[in-house]
Formats: sequence, C-alpha cells, structure tokens
Amino acid sequence: MNILILGSGGRESAFAWKIAQSPKCEKLFIAPGNAGMHQYGTTVNIKVTDFEGIKALVIKNNINLVLVGPEEPLVKGIHDFFLADEQLKNIPVVGPQAEAAQMEGSKDFSKQFMQRHNIPTAAYKTFTKDTLQEGITYLATAGLPVVLKADGLAAGKGVLICTSLEEAQLELTAMLADAKFGDASSSVVIEQFLQGIELSVFVMTDGTNYKILPEAKDYKRIGEGDTGLNTGGMGSISPVPFADAAYMKKVEDLVIIPTVEGLKKDNIPYKGFIFIGLMNKDGEPWVIEYNCRMGDPETESVIRRIDSDFVDLLQGVAEGNLNEKELIISPKTAATVVMVAGGYPGEYLKNKVITGTENVRDSIVFHAGTSLDGDNVITTGGRVLAITTLQDNMFNALQQATADASRIYYDGMYFRKDIGFDLL
Ligand code: AMP
Repeated sequence: MNILILGSGGRESAFAWKIAQSPKCEKLFIAPGNAGMHQYGTTVNIKVTDFEGIKALVIKNNINLVLVGPEEPLVKGIHDFFLADEQLKNIPVVGPQAEAAQMEGSKDFSKQFMQRHNIPTAAYKTFTKDTLQEGITYLATAGLPVVLKADGLAAGKGVLICTSLEEAQLELTAMLADAKFGDASSSVVIEQFLQGIELSVFVMTDGTNYKILPEAKDYKRIGEGDTGLNTGGMGSISPVPFADAAYMKKVEDLVIIPTVEGLKKDNIPYKGFIFIGLMNKDGEPWVIEYNCRMGDPETESVIRRIDSDFVDLLQGVAEGNLNEKELIISPKTAATVVMVAGGYPGEYLKNKVITGTENVRDSIVFHAGTSLDGDNVITTGGRVLAITTLQDNMFNALQQATADASRIYYDGMYFRKDIGFDLL
C-alpha cells in the first residue's frame, strides 16, 4: 500500500516510524512533515488544510490510505471532502468526518453527547452572548473553582480554571462579549471542577468494533513539579500504574462502550481514533474531553508499546473489520521527554542549530518543530523533539529518556527532568 500521513509533529513522526516498518507499506508520504521524517518516507510541502493540494498528491502517487494526524483538517471536513469527490471516494481516510469531529470541535456538542448517553462527566451549562447575564448569575451558584471552556477550537488555550467568582465573571464576559478566543468563544461551557489525576485513553474504532490502545499520562505544564504555563505537552508515560485491569474495565464499561454505541445510536459514522481525557476521581473515571485524533506527546509513547502491524490495524479501521485484527501490546514502559525552544510556551527562539542527536543511546528521536537549513537541522517550532524510549521498567525508562535528551543541544534548549517520576 501507498500511505499518506497528514501532519508535521512528534505524533506524526511516531506514526511514520511505525508505518515504515510494516511489510504492508510500499511507499510512505508525509505532508508537510519535518526535518526528521525523511528517514521514514517522502515529505511533501503541502498544508494539512490544503484539500485540493492533498487531492493532487493522492492521485499522483496512487495513495491507498490517508492517516490524519491533527484535528484541524478533520474538523474542517477532510474526510467528507474525500467522500464527496468521485476520484477520492474509495480511498479510505482514518479520522472521523466533520460531524463526529465535533466531539473535539465543540465542547457543547460533546457535553450533550455524554449527557444523552449517560457517560460520567462534570455538570455543566452552556451560554452565549445573548445569555451572558444569565451566565454571570449562574456562576454565583456554581461553586469554586469553576471551569470555563470556549466551545470551539482555541489552540489548546480555551479552558480556564477560575478560583474566584470575580475572575470567573470577568473571564466569561471577556470570552462572550469581547471574543477573547475569537469565534471559538461565541459559546462557553461552564463546568464543575473535578479534582483527581488525569489519564489519556485511546480507542481505535471502525464505527462498530474497537480496540483499546495503551493508556498514557501526559505532562502539560512547562515547569518541573507541574508548575507554570500550559503547553502542548512536555512528556508522557505508558503504562500508567493506577490504570490497572480493574480500572480499565470500568473505563471500558462506563465510557468506551457507551461512547462507541452512542455514536452508532446517533447515526454518526466514526472511523479513526477517539482520545478520551479522563479524570480519575476516587477511583472513578469522569470524562473531561474527547479528541478526534491521537494525543501528542502520548502517541510517541503509545506507539512504542504496540507490537502488532500498525498498518494492519489501520486497514481494519478502513475496512470495518477491526475485530479480526490483532492488537499486541508490550508490557514494557515507554517514556517520552519533549525538548522545547527557549521561551516556549511564550515567544520562543527559532532557527537554532540542533546537534548531538547521534549521541542518543537507547531512545528514538522523533522530530516535531524542525526544518532543514542546508545540511543543518534547525529548530522552527516550540516543541522541537520528542525523545522516546522503551525499557523493562518505569525507572529505567524515565532515566533513559531524560539522559538521552541531555545528549542533544541547541541554544535555549529546555526539557523537564521530572517526567513520570511522580508515578514511581
Ligand atoms: P480540555 O481542553 O477540556 O481537555 O481541558 C484542558 C485541561 O483543563 C484538562 O486537561 C484539565 O487539566 C483541565 N480541566 C478541564 N476540565 C476540567 C474539569 N471539569 N475539572 C478539572 N480540570 C479540568
């Protein structure tokens, strides 16, 4: 098969690394990719939202399957675009259609979905500019802290946890009346705060059958000890000790089955990944969010624990026979440390030459925000590299990933040295 991956981050690097190993993959293309992806396939500089450009690429190279990494093209309807096009309609896209991508693209849509199908989630109410005054009154009764969520996609910034009523009322006004997050905050979900430990659960589904991929924990804050500003993710670990078989059975019965069945009942086709962000509160799973794609940097750890042929699983999703496919999961521990640019997640340094990747001993260097400048690999994004290792136990995995990250250098380089150590 000829396969096209859409995206350019660490997640897509991990997909590409895995897919390139499959005997079923003849040619691999990645659009737009980054400086590290040449190892796995051909990169083509086409944006993930340039649907016409992607169409031309798919036809020219006889692509047989498209794997969509990020949410934006899904929410914008790339799968629907393929289905509506005479030349593309028989080429499977792994990633849901726009209607189902609203599970991520609209918080209100996903909250209504959860309520309709009795999936445990925090109590909530949704407000718009027209009902701002009611929202302000509602906040006074909501209890603290309280969570405000911009309904639409806001580049991971649209969720605010407010600890005082005054702050919550000001932020609600800024979001609804002053379009703090643009169109994304024309509706705002006000939600009860859940105290607990977060867990990322990943499901692959063909719309009827599903497979539960390895779970992971990610680390969102920039600073060690989970302090400072939120980022796209500074590291991940899989497996997660508290997510034992009994806990995961609860997750399957209370969340995964009702989610897959709920989509079917609502007549919403879904072929792709469902990322379920859970809060583990007193041993019970509560859904915080759905994403319509895999997480980053969780994918880097998750992929390393999948021992079966990933292309075979993707074919199962595409052809609707995922139940006939085998998912083999390694019992080992995968750890990922993300290396970021100086200044990130604020204004950050760019175009710094990266050296030392050849000194890494027992990890894979997944490129994210990198480009080629002549013979040099330079930094171009905030999250630059993801260093992922697979070891027999958690301590060794955490140590190895951290030690390997420190063998790489660029001006302003930063990474967290405490990823996963809270779980030991
Ligand atoms: P979301 O975009 O919905 O995943 O929210 C981003 C982050 O905000 C989550 O990863 C949680 O850390 C936090 N968060 C969201 N909703 C809640 C909630 N109801 N209670 C506590 N924390 C939350």
